[in-house]
Amino acid sequence: MTQQQDKKRLVVIGNGMAPGRVIERLLALSPEKYQITIFNAEPRVNYDRIMLSPVLAGEKSYEDIIIHDEDWYTQNDITLYKGDPILFINRSEKFVVSKKGVSVNYDTLLIATGSSPILIPLPGHDLDGVLTYRDLDDVEAMVVASKNQKHAVVIGGGLLGLEAAAGLQMRGMIVTVLHLMPTLMERQLDAVAGELLKNALEARGINVLTRANTARITGTEKVAAVHLDDGTVIKADIVCMAVGIKPNADLAKAAGLKTNRGIIVQDDMRTSDPDIFAVGECVEHNGQCYGLVVPLYEMAVVVAAGLSGQSVRYKSTTSPTKLKVTGIDLFSAGEFEKKSGREEIIIKNSSGDFYKRLVIENNKIVGVVLFGDTADGAWFFNLLKRGVDISTMRQSLIFGTAHDEEEPLTPYGGQCSLTA
Ligand SMILES: Cc1cc2nc3c(=O)[nH]c(=O)nc-3n(C[C@H](O)[C@H](O)[C@H](O)COP(=O)(O)OP(=O)(O)OC[C@H]3O[C@@H](n4cnc5c(N)ncnc54)[C@H](O)[C@@H]3O)c2cc1C
Repeated sequence: MTQQQDKKRLVVIGNGMAPGRVIERLLALSPEKYQITIFNAEPRVNYDRIMLSPVLAGEKSYEDIIIHDEDWYTQNDITLYKGDPILFINRSEKFVVSKKGVSVNYDTLLIATGSSPILIPLPGHDLDGVLTYRDLDDVEAMVVASKNQKHAVVIGGGLLGLEAAAGLQMRGMIVTVLHLMPTLMERQLDAVAGELLKNALEARGINVLTRANTARITGTEKVAAVHLDDGTVIKADIVCMAVGIKPNADLAKAAGLKTNRGIIVQDDMRTSDPDIFAVGECVEHNGQCYGLVVPLYEMAVVVAAGLSGQSVRYKSTTSPTKLKVTGIDLFSAGEFEKKSGREEIIIKNSSGDFYKRLVIENNKIVGVVLFGDTADGAWFFNLLKRGVDISTMRQSLIFGTAHDEEEPLTPYGGQCSLTA
């Protein structure tokens, strides 16, 4: 038998950030174990989806955000089918079939189909000019639109919607953000930070309407306006809907795997079929689906270990959120709702461009919201994640690492030299 024939066949469905990280780790752990074949619905290599916003804003190019270029696949002897989604998984005979009719057998399958943007089925949602924000094609469509059109409406004031709004505005469009809730990014920010963020966006010239309930989109063939339920009409040449994501679990479901919102996985990231792993945004673990990259990379470590024969278990953790809008610094992690037994440490300046809030419970940080200066975000997050007892640092904690230039706080294992 040749060395090639000795190898197990690993087929990967999807070529996003999560499986990209799995393969990197797997190649480091067991470089010779698998013959790897990847199918990707997108017609491209693995790129950093997070950095699409800087591409939209014109601050980076697609080439800048490629994670694995064509050479990487060749060097690692990986077969990549681009622009060819898998349509069918045959579990009993262990093969997959692609849209273009390619059929490949597997010993182990990894499903990493990610998620899709939700398109609210409002009247007019199918008009030309109504877009979503998920991949490079969406960015390219928005860039093209911004060249000959003037008015953009973004529905959704969450992370993606605001990044889309900022990018479109930097491309020269007149942008209005419509958000259903009273404050922006309400899942990641408290009301104060949400209001500061709104002010900062408005100061850049982006119109923000909160409590804005979109009733319909109108136009003849092409979008022309967005109508709110209170009668407000906003002119629109393009509409970007950024109202949430839905895990892509249909392929797995059709193959008879256990699914709910996402593909259900155990702690070892195996699906209900032990020969099939799943990773990334398509997954549901302990009733939770994820939309940020940190937990997906943690899952990737577990999958790579499992594929190389080790036993590691995934344990979900908190991830921080950062908005990637140049000039607006914002960091949030953990919980910030008011509850009995929780205390808060807050500083805010009167001009409203600086706000820090720490939520403390049982002498541990459980939530962090930073606006204007996020330099200590990672430091606070580290304290939160590790559950460090902050009682001895309480007095100066809010000042972060800057409270004492000569003897900074060292939550990474060193000694904390603090004066209360
Ligand atoms: C604009 C934007 C900004 C973001 N910013 C941040 C951020 O700041 N911080 C953060 O943590 N996260 C951010 N995210 C989220 C982050 O990018 C995702 O969590 C991550 O990329 C998901 O990786 P994934 O591999 O699970 O799925 P995806 O990246 O969605 O990849 C799935 C891939 O599978 C392909 N596919 C689907 N079905 C099939 C099929 N049947 N056959 C073959 N291929 C298939 C899809 O085409 C896609 O290429 C952002 C996302 C976007 C869109």
